Amino acid sequence: MWLPGPVAYIGLWINEGTAPDPSRSGVAERGQVGAVSDMSGGEAAAGSSTDYQSPTETIDVRCPADGSVLETISVDPPQRVAEVVARVRRAQPGWEAIGPEGRAHWLGRLRDWILDHQDELDDLMQAESGKVRADAALEAFYVLEAINFWIRRGPRYLADEKVTPHTPVLRTKRAKIVYRPYPVAGIISPWNFPLILSLGDAIPALVAGCATVIKPSELTPLTLRELVRAWREEIGAPDVLDVVDGTGETGGALVDECDFIQFTGSERTGKIVMKRAADTLTPVSLELGGNDPMIVTRGADVERAANAACFGGLMNTGQICLSIERVYVEAPIYDEFVERLRVNVERLRQGADGRAYAADVGAMTSPAQLEIVSEHVEDARRAGARILAGGRRADRPGDWYEPTLIADADHSMKVMREETFGPVIPVMKVSDAEDALRLANDTPYGLGGAVFAGEGSEGERLARRIEAGTVAVNDLFPVNYGVLDLPMGGWKSSGIGYRHGAVGIRKFCRSESLTLPRFPQPKSEVVWFPYTPRRRGIVRRVYRFMNARGWRQRLGLK
Ligand code: NAD
Repeated sequence: MWLPGPVAYIGLWINEGTAPDPSRSGVAERGQVGAVSDMSGGEAAAGSSTDYQSPTETIDVRCPADGSVLETISVDPPQRVAEVVARVRRAQPGWEAIGPEGRAHWLGRLRDWILDHQDELDDLMQAESGKVRADAALEAFYVLEAINFWIRRGPRYLADEKVTPHTPVLRTKRAKIVYRPYPVAGIISPWNFPLILSLGDAIPALVAGCATVIKPSELTPLTLRELVRAWREEIGAPDVLDVVDGTGETGGALVDECDFIQFTGSERTGKIVMKRAADTLTPVSLELGGNDPMIVTRGADVERAANAACFGGLMNTGQICLSIERVYVEAPIYDEFVERLRVNVERLRQGADGRAYAADVGAMTSPAQLEIVSEHVEDARRAGARILAGGRRADRPGDWYEPTLIADADHSMKVMREETFGPVIPVMKVSDAEDALRLANDTPYGLGGAVFAGEGSEGERLARRIEAGTVAVNDLFPVNYGVLDLPMGGWKSSGIGYRHGAVGIRKFCRSESLTLPRFPQPKSEVVWFPYTPRRRGIVRRVYRFMNARGWRQRLGLK
């Protein structure tokens, strides 16, 4: 079923839309907006490094559901990035000094503001991303929960950690680990979850006491900008949160200026960011791409597994790093699974549903990604796979690709070997679970995965052998991502570092190891100068006593 676009309710927030622009889908590289122009009307090549020196360069932010221009924003050149970072850096000591309760107060005000403006935020999110209402609404839900989670758990994760020295000799000292924030954390985020993958990291950074500057994706900067505007202008919070806009040049400048970088995006850009950060020895955490497998064994509840594959592969139009990207099904249940999945996929409603919660699958946010999806499906078709549903882009303005089911896929196909990042579910028949496991691990990525198996321990046994940072048994990634206490990060080419859990906030800190006297201190210590035979003899006997095993050895007796 097709629902009418374009998305409504955006008038109060952004410039009036213009006519759909067919050139939108002609963008050459993913992650870059088509029209980066100067004010004289001349078109510049998107993303080339010399294009961003002029402060008059702009980016047209478009509505993927119909191609209209929502707003034209200015690109922040490196000099402005440096100014923004320097400004929030000046405010950071005050932010750190107000302590966890002070910071919780301001983040609580942000939570309350979001609750009061959730509908309008969801409208704007839909407009700039092409998401259906349910997917758009998820973003504010996550941010609300993340604020409450981090202001409650963060101080516990960052509390001083007492350490008992391993040797009794040093137990005359108190030892502890103290977590102290990096002054400025930079966050570079992608377009598929414009709030979850930007504020989602900014919140723990702020709770930790960092000032934070975010560079959102040039495709979807508007909702985040609105939130940051509210933080500054309506809430009147301390000047420790800001955004900078642009593409590679702006992001690169942020890497140069900040003390820690959280990057979420493609493997290709992640490597560029890491190389650039090496120049200033800036630590990075990278959340990169994935090609997540789902294994369905003959003991599984086939109906649940088919429903899960449909949701896990097509939620958010399949544009999730943790999406089910490929499915391996044991031969005895393959036909039933594929048929159930076909019925499910064909039932899905695609369209722009405004506030109605009346569509399941939205538009694609990135026109460049749509080209990749198309190419992967055509490659599978040419190689002999059966396209049982969808399999083409919709012939209408905007960036739409039909929910697609591919049966009889194999590992020669791009759709199985590469990250498709769109509304496509390829399914492959395997002889047994071992075969499935071998193929599931046959990938340079290691972000997530899912195992659907029968009752008992088979699911966990298989899950433990999947080479990925997060795996769900008889369920999907939203559960893993929703347990904010669990670290979430990629193995292999899927990244370095984690978000969520204790590590998700400690990464925004440097640890300082402190030792403090437990008792009144003598004027000097036996290990200090001067070295004399008598003093070193004492030291030698003590070390021998502590490290030898058995009394004879400890006392130096033959
Ligand atoms: P991308 O790598 O093209 O862009 C990500 C961000 O980096 C954008 O803000 C972009 O402007 C910026 N950027 C581009 N060039 C840069 C440079 N030279 N220096 C600094 N910053 C630069 O990724 P995308 O297309 O926006 O997002 C899709 C990718 O993100 C997919 O591969 C997906 O799997 C991945 N992703 C990963 C996770 C995760 O948590 N692991 C989550 C969502 C998306």
